[in-house]
Amino acid sequence: MRKAIIAGNWKMNKTPDEAKALVEALKPLVAGASCDVVVCVPAVDIAAAKAAVKGSKIKVGAQNVHFAASGAYTGELSADMIKAAGAEYVIIGHSERRQYFGETDTTVNQRTVAAVKAGLKAIVCVGESRAEREAGYTDALVEYQTLIALTGLDKNDLKNIVIAYEPVWAIGTGLVATDEQANETIGVIRAAVARKYGKAAAGKLRIQYGGSMKPNNVKGLMAQPEIDGGLIGGASLKAEDFAAIVNYDK
Ligand code: PEP
Repeated sequence: MRKAIIAGNWKMNKTPDEAKALVEALKPLVAGASCDVVVCVPAVDIAAAKAAVKGSKIKVGAQNVHFAASGAYTGELSADMIKAAGAEYVIIGHSERRQYFGETDTTVNQRTVAAVKAGLKAIVCVGESRAEREAGYTDALVEYQTLIALTGLDKNDLKNIVIAYEPVWAIGTGLVATDEQANETIGVIRAAVARKYGKAAAGKLRIQYGGSMKPNNVKGLMAQPEIDGGLIGGASLKAEDFAAIVNYDK
């Protein structure tokens, strides 16, 4: 049995003081959660969030990481830096980074390897655009994105990887993949991982769904056998909504 993991992606929202307030509001609401709970916050909020989660089961994540250990990369942060600041997780290859900041499958792979080698847990995002789905490329695309992202990692590293299947057309749009669509595509990703790393390793890999997951649709999605959690954007900014998603099984 895979333990579910629900992670919030705060995107570019919240100052450190606001981060502290949101975490403090969240803490009592998720105290009885049976899944892993993560908040992926802006880098400047990591220290404040880390201090605020003390005494709870909430873990802190970052939203990006550079692949080099140090050097002339103005504005970037290394895996050691975000880990030292208090992050245990990091989102890599979110579609907004691919769309607006030139992230490619190759740099997603480099960042994933750097994160895992530094001892972070990587939440690696894959997913198709609406045009790619309509053209029938979804399965090939998510397989390709996943296997490239994992290049250079071995099956022992998979315990530090979470894949987030996020159809780009469902992110921030209010459109959500049907339970069956999400389950089927996540099954395709797991089968690709099984071909490369074996069935046992793929069977342990956690694969989330992301894209307009909300309190009113989480139960149906989480009832699907392949779906091991969610990456939550908009709804993670409200403590009650995020907590309702985290407590989907209550
Ligand atoms: C996301 O940003 O990863 C996301 C899934 O956003 P939303 O839940 O707002 O669609």
